[in-house]
Amino acid sequence: MRSYGQFCPIARGSGLIAERWTPIILRNVLLGCRTFNEIAAGAPGLSRALLARRLRELERAGVVTVRPKPDGRGSYYLPTPSGRELWPVLQALGDWAERWMDVTAEDADPDLVVWSWCQSSLRRDLLPERRVVVRFEFAPDGSGAADGSGAAHSSRSPGALTRVWLLLERGRGEVCGFDPGFGDDLVVTVDDPLAFARWHLGLVEWSTALKSGAIRVEGPRDLRRALPTWNSYPQTRARRRAEHRRAPGGPQPLPPEAVPSATAPRRDPPWRTVRTRTRSTTVPGFSGRLVTPRDADYDAVRAVWNGAVDRRPRFIARCLSPSDVAAAIGFARERGLAVTVRGGGHGVAGNALCDDGLVVDLSAMKSVSVDPARRTATAGPGTLWGELDTAAQAFGLAVTGGVVSHTGISGLTLGGGLGWLMRRHGLTVDNLTRAELITADGRPLTADEHDEPELFWGLRGGGGGLGAVTSFTYRLHPVGPEVLAGPVLWPLEDAPAVLRAYREHAACAPPEVATVVTLRRAPAAPFLPVETHGRPVCMITMLALADGDAAERLLAPLRALGRPLLDLVRRRPYTALQSMFDTVVPAGWHYYWKSTGLRELDDDVIDTMTEHAARARSTRSYAILFHLGGAVAETDPAATSFAHRAVPHHLNVNAVWLPRQDDSLGAVERAWARDFVAALTPYGEGVYVNFLDRDDRGRLPEAYDTPTHARLTELRRRVDPDGVFGTA
Ligand SMILES: Cc1cc2nc3c(=O)[nH]c(=O)nc-3n(C[C@H](O)[C@H](O)[C@H](O)COP(=O)(O)OP(=O)(O)OC[C@H]3O[C@@H](n4cnc5c(N)ncnc54)[C@H](O)[C@@H]3O)c2cc1C
Repeated sequence: MRSYGQFCPIARGSGLIAERWTPIILRNVLLGCRTFNEIAAGAPGLSRALLARRLRELERAGVVTVRPKPDGRGSYYLPTPSGRELWPVLQALGDWAERWMDVTAEDADPDLVVWSWCQSSLRRDLLPERRVVVRFEFAPDGSGAADGSGAAHSSRSPGALTRVWLLLERGRGEVCGFDPGFGDDLVVTVDDPLAFARWHLGLVEWSTALKSGAIRVEGPRDLRRALPTWNSYPQTRARRRAEHRRAPGGPQPLPPEAVPSATAPRRDPPWRTVRTRTRSTTVPGFSGRLVTPRDADYDAVRAVWNGAVDRRPRFIARCLSPSDVAAAIGFARERGLAVTVRGGGHGVAGNALCDDGLVVDLSAMKSVSVDPARRTATAGPGTLWGELDTAAQAFGLAVTGGVVSHTGISGLTLGGGLGWLMRRHGLTVDNLTRAELITADGRPLTADEHDEPELFWGLRGGGGGLGAVTSFTYRLHPVGPEVLAGPVLWPLEDAPAVLRAYREHAACAPPEVATVVTLRRAPAAPFLPVETHGRPVCMITMLALADGDAAERLLAPLRALGRPLLDLVRRRPYTALQSMFDTVVPAGWHYYWKSTGLRELDDDVIDTMTEHAARARSTRSYAILFHLGGAVAETDPAATSFAHRAVPHHLNVNAVWLPRQDDSLGAVERAWARDFVAALTPYGEGVYVNFLDRDDRGRLPEAYDTPTHARLTELRRRVDPDGVFGTA
């Protein structure tokens, strides 16, 4: 790091970040690249030696911190609070370049364009439900310069054809420099990498690039048409830039007041002055990103898992740290805005979003740190279950978590947390040992058994509304990594007999056995043979937490019920069980839930469930029945705010349809779900707060017994007297 020998803060800051490659490295770290290889992947051309040197400089400057990986092999590079504050600096630089600089052939390294697309502008909400592999073939340098410039088109070695694969799966994208081995669904041949880069940046229409022959696409028509829609690069910004350049008299220099002299007294930094000209709002002390309806990616950022939720917040504060959370809450309070908190964005009711208020969006605050010796894991509020499970399973450990791996840990934990491990190890909240949060008045607090015990009680089952939790620490248990688990399917018409026998089994099942019953048409899921797809079935998915033969013995009676159509119980990784149903409930479909606890599964309940399940019109709708008991029931009901511990079964009826079926199917399926649960009212007891939908607000008291509800109400009044978290 070289000094300019000047006291001026711009000179001092530049001494650090204006070193060659440093802004690129910082950008990658701030975008979430955590390992050396991930950072290097976003900086082709940078030697590993120089990357190591730059990372050491950033560490010495306190901008990046280096943590050993839990397995001892390598390190994680994480931004410090001071590093995070560089994000607006980099963004301002990018905004400036976008307004004033053209992308040139030299900048259009094609692999990097795919990487950038995947990292920062992939429209996850529009990705197909199934896995899609896109193979990109970039022509050797200089060939086919379809823009007629004849310029050399990339910094890559001349004569080499570059192949890159984009693997899209479960709403996520990954760039591979090798064939991922699933077969290519689309092949994109790029003869002109510059045209491709310009399309990515929103400067060239896809159709224009196709017509000019710069890009060719082969594959099924629906995927060919969908491909360009997966790039959310802020096209309006690009348009604005073009308009700005076409303004009479050409581009105007910034007004003098926006360019402070080096010796002037410290005042608003120049980017803030520039920003007020293009975006009107800044939040003091906030280093994340404030998204407003004027941003081109506003719709992508406000989208939640349930595509039927359509709320339009005035601000979405994408936080990167607890201090961002405090700043965002302070900003909202000052303006009297309703505040909601978003973790994984999976809540069916969409309570993470509000109309016209501010969303404290924690989804970028992802981190998991596992302490195998103490058997604990501490995770950031944007972490998803799949991410926590993967980190903990590296040590053969796990905590009770949701049965779909793209669910957020935050909301699930705050509501209680049902999952495969609960009968043996308790609910998720029974394993929460500590939470850090930002209160309604912007203070950081730690809650555990000793500090703030009443708040800690409320956080464990109260369903949120007590502060924005920025860190969760869990107790872990040895699990797997392989377990005996999987679904067994029977024809739906056999459900009455199968479920009568299941009822007897569930009543005395040991805590090592976990079961979830699903009544539905067999989904087109990868684990089911095609010939079963669409067939009405009763499916019991089961898990035995025991070794070898003992596990087989535990599940044998269940597998022997009636005459199964299919038995898929196998030894499989616990993480595979956790993600088995991920594709069945993808983000973006339309969902509506109705739910109830069930005191018993008497004959009438079983027959009613079977009859109503058969009436679903949508092939995607289903009813799912969780079996609780075991450690859940043994825990003192007053120990946490999850009240209905004695209720043995929780039924969740999920109406599911595609967005385009709103008119033809939506109303019918919603009525189906309501009728289904209404028919079981005589047997109902309580409801799980996390299964309540947007029209269930009046049912909130049902999620608790009377003393718990009164205690929670009192606690909310104390910690959030102005109703900051309750006004949405
Ligand atoms: C497909 C699917 C499968 C599911 N499976 C299970 C299951 O197996 N077991 C189970 O128990 N539940 C399950 N659920 C329900 C799940 O628990 C809730 O949807 C939960 O709210 C998801 O948490 P989230 O952080 O993703 O949601 P979000 O929508 O982000 O948040 C939900 C609520 O929690 C609040 N909240 C979120 N994060 C914070 C935070 N850090 N601080 C304060 N408040 C916060 C939000 O304001 C909001 O009101 C499932 C849900 C889905 C959609």
